Amino acid sequence: MPTIPIVDLKKQYLSIQKEIDAAVLTCLHEAQYIGGKLVHAVEQQLAQYIGVQHCVSCANGTDALQIALMALDLPKGSKIIVPAFTYIAPVEVVKLLDYELVFCDVDVRTFNVSIEHIKTVYSDDVKAIIVVHLFGQVCDINEIAAFCKDKNIFLIEDNAQALGAEKFIQRNSIITTSFYPSKNLGAYGDGGALFCNDELLAKKIRKIANHGQTQKYVHEIVGINSRLDVIQAAILQVKLAHLDVYNAKRKKVADTYYQAFKSIQYIDLPIEKNAHIFHQYTIIVKNNLRDALKKHLAEKNIQTAIHYPIPAYKQQAFLNKKLCLPNTEFLCSSVLSIPIFPELTDEQITYICACITSFFSTYE
Ligand SMILES: *Cc1c(COP(=O)(O)O)cnc(C)c1O
Repeated sequence: MPTIPIVDLKKQYLSIQKEIDAAVLTCLHEAQYIGGKLVHAVEQQLAQYIGVQHCVSCANGTDALQIALMALDLPKGSKIIVPAFTYIAPVEVVKLLDYELVFCDVDVRTFNVSIEHIKTVYSDDVKAIIVVHLFGQVCDINEIAAFCKDKNIFLIEDNAQALGAEKFIQRNSIITTSFYPSKNLGAYGDGGALFCNDELLAKKIRKIANHGQTQKYVHEIVGINSRLDVIQAAILQVKLAHLDVYNAKRKKVADTYYQAFKSIQYIDLPIEKNAHIFHQYTIIVKNNLRDALKKHLAEKNIQTAIHYPIPAYKQQAFLNKKLCLPNTEFLCSSVLSIPIFPELTDEQITYICACITSFFSTYE
């Protein structure tokens, strides 16, 4: 079997090559490379797609988080709750803007922060919470949004891995996403966006992403330069029309994996508590067998990944030696993501299932 990658972007491109090539060529001929009608149209389509009033595009998902935090303009020294088990971007922007990190443990079965974990780390100095809808599953967002409202604090949702899981969002939060190529909706380069339902906030976000200006050469506040380029916008426009089908295919792969692995006692499979679009299919490998399984699959030409190997608070840049969050630490030592993408063939899926099943049969 030729190597099965963790994601196959070439195969996806070939399946929509005509549409993509035409869209990109049009951009080249129009020679409008930054801003303009197409970027605006894609923003509107994205807002409509996830059912939020306003969308502002930007250069990447990390910028989106930074712009969101800048827009909130929190008092100096504010504490912000972030998950300890996450891709690093939300942690990074809090530190970058000189706010105080409050790491929160996650639920061991959904990989997401829950209201119980949030309550254990909440204090009066907390002014915002950043949640991450990890691996494609929405966290318990209604409870968390209600908590934020009750405490009068801000909510940022990092939706880089779950774009399309929810289709009608009326919450009073800032939602960010990334169009990094391997995301469910990926560009062919960098891209990102912010969403919200508040018009004034959307205007402020747009201003911050554009050097703090609303008029050329008039700078009202300190901003940054963060733009989605036109070629990426054109690619996203093509791919957005396929996103629901892509997400449905991921779900089908997840269902097949569930049936194949549900009786293996050494692994815990992802549960679907809330809407889930399986950005990753991440399993928990018990009995310290994770690294052995990873090695076994590598020998069988199956790529896997560890999302994420180190708790955020154990990273040198964000070190907090006093912290020990048990679920986060357990997950970092036990999780393994196996290939899941819309273009996986039945033959590849069957082969992956067989290789994982045979690995564990030696332990029975
Ligand atoms: C990918 C990702 C980001 C960052 O996106 P970039 O576009 O690479 O900056 C942020 N948060 C999460 C959860 C991600 O998965």
